[in-house]
Amino acid sequence: MTKTIAVTNQKGGVGKTTTSVNLAASLAATHRQVLLIDMDPQGNATMGSGVDKRAIPASTYDVLLGETDLAEALIPSDAGYDLLPANADLTAAEVGLLETDGREQRLRTALAAATDYDYILVDCPPALNMLTVNALVAADTVMIPMQCEYYALEGLSALLDTIRRIQDQLNPDLEVEGLLRTMFDPRNRLATDVSRQLTDHFGGKVYRTVIPRNVRLAEAPSHGLPVLAYDKGSRGAQSYLALAGELLRNESAGKPDPAPA
Ligand code: ADP
Ligand code: MG
Repeated sequence: MTKTIAVTNQKGGVGKTTTSVNLAASLAATHRQVLLIDMDPQGNATMGSGVDKRAIPASTYDVLLGETDLAEALIPSDAGYDLLPANADLTAAEVGLLETDGREQRLRTALAAATDYDYILVDCPPALNMLTVNALVAADTVMIPMQCEYYALEGLSALLDTIRRIQDQLNPDLEVEGLLRTMFDPRNRLATDVSRQLTDHFGGKVYRTVIPRNVRLAEAPSHGLPVLAYDKGSRGAQSYLALAGELLRNESAGKPDPAPA
């Protein structure tokens, strides 16, 4: 069974791409078959996987518009997962999609043939746009990385509204996989307060694993590497391995997902 996870938060800079790349690498390190889809025209997941976004023969854009088969556009990354790369062309897909039939279902349709994977991770853009809608319609679950900041909870309720709308209209089976605290600094009082509010409100939906602020995580993309390949012993690498472990344990325990709050 393939599980498709949309890594989403409409806020930029909260750790979506860092989470997508490093969770993909961590799951691949535990011998899972993983596909990472770059759904952001910025192409950060592509570059962070060691693939030059200016030199890709085909991209998420071509697959969404039905111009290329998924299998033809995939690039195997050195970290052990397959990548569907993206670049600025994807901005045009947003417009192009508006004119096509079944515009919300394009990714879902493209992924129907990708049955050999254990996990498909979709790195979403920082907006609740047609690209994100495609990711949410194709996904089984949503993973929400968030920084424990003052406005984080407000942004979260807008995102949960969108998820509910998608559940009502396009993908009734969509579930919230979990909320992930990123760039966490336990010495920051506000961060610990917001973190407590999160666990009070969302309980079991908040991952026990917390991703610390760690400079190795920020450095790794400039080398085109997941942190696991850049500095395996770093706290950043260890925390994403722990996240992969938590995800796998939740699954094998068959933990029923409570309804999204
Ligand atoms: P998003 O995809 O949500 O826009 P990114 O994953 O690109 O966010 O992260 C934004 C910036 O913060 C990037 O420069 C990234 O390297 C850095 N970053 C992400 N997570 C961490 C972390 N845990 N510790 C330190 N820097 C981080
Ligand atoms: Mg990003």
